[in-house]
Amino acid sequence: MRPFGYLAPADPAAAIAAVTGRPGAAFLAGGTNLVDLMKLGVAAPGLLVDVTGLLPVLIEPAAAGGLRIGAGVRNSDLAADPRVRAGFPVLAQAVLAGASGQLRNMATVGGNLLQRTRCLYFQDVTKPCNKRVPGSGCPARAGDHRNLAILGGSPHCVATHPSDMAVALAALDAVVHVEGPAGPRALPVTGPPGGLYRLPGDEPDRETTLERGDLITAVEIPPLAYAGNSAYRKVRDRTSYAFAVMSVAAALDVAGGVVRDVRLAIGAVAPVPWRARAAERVLTGRPATAEWFGRAADAELAAATPLPDNAFKVTLARNVIVRMLCELAGPGPEGSAS
Ligand SMILES: Cc1cc2nc3c(=O)[nH]c(=O)nc-3n(C[C@H](O)[C@H](O)[C@H](O)COP(=O)(O)OP(=O)(O)OC[C@H]3O[C@@H](n4cnc5c(N)ncnc54)[C@H](O)[C@@H]3O)c2cc1C
Ligand code: SF4
Repeated sequence: MRPFGYLAPADPAAAIAAVTGRPGAAFLAGGTNLVDLMKLGVAAPGLLVDVTGLLPVLIEPAAAGGLRIGAGVRNSDLAADPRVRAGFPVLAQAVLAGASGQLRNMATVGGNLLQRTRCLYFQDVTKPCNKRVPGSGCPARAGDHRNLAILGGSPHCVATHPSDMAVALAALDAVVHVEGPAGPRALPVTGPPGGLYRLPGDEPDRETTLERGDLITAVEIPPLAYAGNSAYRKVRDRTSYAFAVMSVAAALDVAGGVVRDVRLAIGAVAPVPWRARAAERVLTGRPATAEWFGRAADAELAAATPLPDNAFKVTLARNVIVRMLCELAGPGPEGSAS
């Protein structure tokens, strides 16, 4: 690991100024991703600006039943919060599906959203990688891409976003609050376009719309009357301590056997948490049946461009979406969820 400086600023403004004014500086939160990448030589910040004591650590009620979550809230505390568990189970389940208990005790909400991809080539400094070294190439397309993107990738990068939490937040239309050199602003997790995350295009090294010195201070979840009927399902190669092969976050509102509203996001299939808007459009106002859940999944996955070794994700995603929506629909009227 290269030598680096450490700074514990007095307040967020000083932290923002320290990172803005020094190109090699980075915010340090729980450190569970950044420090790993430093050990691997993938990241080499000259200065770590510790924000753990500066960020809000409260989960507070927001307007009309929403929640405002401080960016410094630890993943364990978020998953254990009774308001999150009862009101937004999809979020609690997503957080609990990630990493391990020890890691969740350290990991923060802000750091979780900005963790880097687990693409093998990105983490191996002996290999080329457009995301790590722009213009060096993408060996994943012809190499190991089983876990990589089927949606939203580009010829330059097909990495997937690794966060479970971000998939749930995308389904919930959460908004990220940022303070930075240009002042405060709010960015939807959902997108692109216009959200926190960027698709790789020909600049895979730029993963977000954040600028140097931008500090995530909070995440706000707007009210959603039926968010109590939501869930997160993660498929992985082993049952714990593994990143998703594919995941689904969903919330469903059914009345009289008809879908009144639905929120659907898919994880580990794209460089960003993937909001399944095409599927949502197909389903709204339609019967809450396995047949229509399948049609909705097909509409979303029609845009998939899998590589030879990850084509299985298309079928997997369809099956998990249908199964999960059937579960959320419940037994319902005759014929539904069958
Ligand atoms: C073995 C292992 C297994 C894991 N499994 C999973 C999993 O299954 N699912 C999952 O979702 N995650 C998983 N993780 C990842 C883990 O969730 C992340 O490492 C963690 O959430 C990052 O949070 P942190 O606070 O430690 O961030 P840090 O490592 O401190 O920071 C991460 C990045 O965010 C930046 N940053 C941090 N806070 C802010 C802020 N407030 N504003 C702006 N920039 C900021 C940092 O500069 C850095 O670039 C795993 C990690 C490990 C090591
Ligand atoms: S998929 Fe992206 S992260 Fe992986 S090797 Fe290619 S450019 Fe690098």
